Amino acid sequence: MRAVTYQAPGVVSVEERPEPELLDAEDAIVRIEASGVCGSDLHIYHGRVQVEPGFTIGHEYVGTVTAAGDAVTTVAVGDRVLGCFQTACGRCWFCRRGLYQRCEHSRTFGHGATLGSLQGTQAELALVPHADLVLRRVPDGMSAEVALFAGDVMGTGFHAVDASGLRPGDTAAVMGLGPVGLCAVQVARAAGAARVYAIDSVPERLAVAESFGAQPVHLSEQDVRATIRAGTEGRGVDVCIDAVGDPRVLADAIRLTRACGSIQCVGVYAERAEVHLGLMWLKALSVRGGQANVIGHVDRVLAMMSAGVLDPTPLVTRHMKLEEAADAYGAFDRREALKIVLTP
Ligand code: NAD
Ligand code: ZN
Ligand code: ZN
Repeated sequence: MRAVTYQAPGVVSVEERPEPELLDAEDAIVRIEASGVCGSDLHIYHGRVQVEPGFTIGHEYVGTVTAAGDAVTTVAVGDRVLGCFQTACGRCWFCRRGLYQRCEHSRTFGHGATLGSLQGTQAELALVPHADLVLRRVPDGMSAEVALFAGDVMGTGFHAVDASGLRPGDTAAVMGLGPVGLCAVQVARAAGAARVYAIDSVPERLAVAESFGAQPVHLSEQDVRATIRAGTEGRGVDVCIDAVGDPRVLADAIRLTRACGSIQCVGVYAERAEVHLGLMWLKALSVRGGQANVIGHVDRVLAMMSAGVLDPTPLVTRHMKLEEAADAYGAFDRREALKIVLTP
């Protein structure tokens, strides 16, 4: 089968790979219909998150089950499914508490040995461990490209808002308007945020945020801090979502968030960084990060997308073939597209 593999910083290629086989009674094999290119894939592409050369990447996927182990009960061969970007065992200390993102046996698709050596989904076929927890049937009438968002991008936006503790009537700031930030804008609005400041420097992305009901603020052409101060009686926002993963963003978030407010970092951090801890302490801020608990949220996210409360359709701005992966990564890296959907 063909698969997109990481080779070196700035280089991905499409290679022949052996077809996956069932290894466990809880496994399923999915024939991939559509797979997304994510900001997390860009960290790999940049060499910031390290993956072995030749490893298959990608972790957002929709497809059809072609094989299922004897213990799989909630999906069956022939079912059209979407999947979560991470797996969980369902039995460990963390899983029993619903903290699936920290499952003791958690593996993330397409992230190499550091995250469980689970081959990625930008391929013709993918092996899905713990299929009952990780997969869901695509709801009737939902397109593949919408369903694709449930197991990562919209789920991550949902997690960002949920974990931030945002309450109806709050003011939020979303920093970074890639697909994740834009989904967080939608979820924040749906969760009752009175106002959402949406911050980035890409005009097209600011325009999409505005169409979702946010107030766009250009990172360099506007004074972000002054704008937020003016709109919050000088206090700062109640909740700040970092959908970038850059210490400069966390430093800004500490300044833009009101005292006793919360900062939720869904953007990926892979290294040591310095922030003004004294300011964080003085302001009594809560800062949280980590992978999104997409397994824990996926059913709610699907319900909201089925009902049209959340709608990622405007975020799919390009469709490309798996063979065009190198061009797709380049275009996404240059911010020429929002979500690029690859089809085998
Ligand atoms: P993306 O690369 O498309 O978006 C990042 C955006 O941030 C871009 O639009 C860029 O212009 C903007 N940006 C860069 N520097 C900025 C700054 N200083 N201030 C404001 N905006 C800035 O990526 P994406 O697919 O939307 O993903 C966003 C982040 O979320 C990535 O770090 C990704 O790895 C992460 N992510 C995390 C999880 C999780 O489980 N925690 C899941 C999915 C994605
Ligand atoms: Zn992703
Ligand atoms: Zn577990």
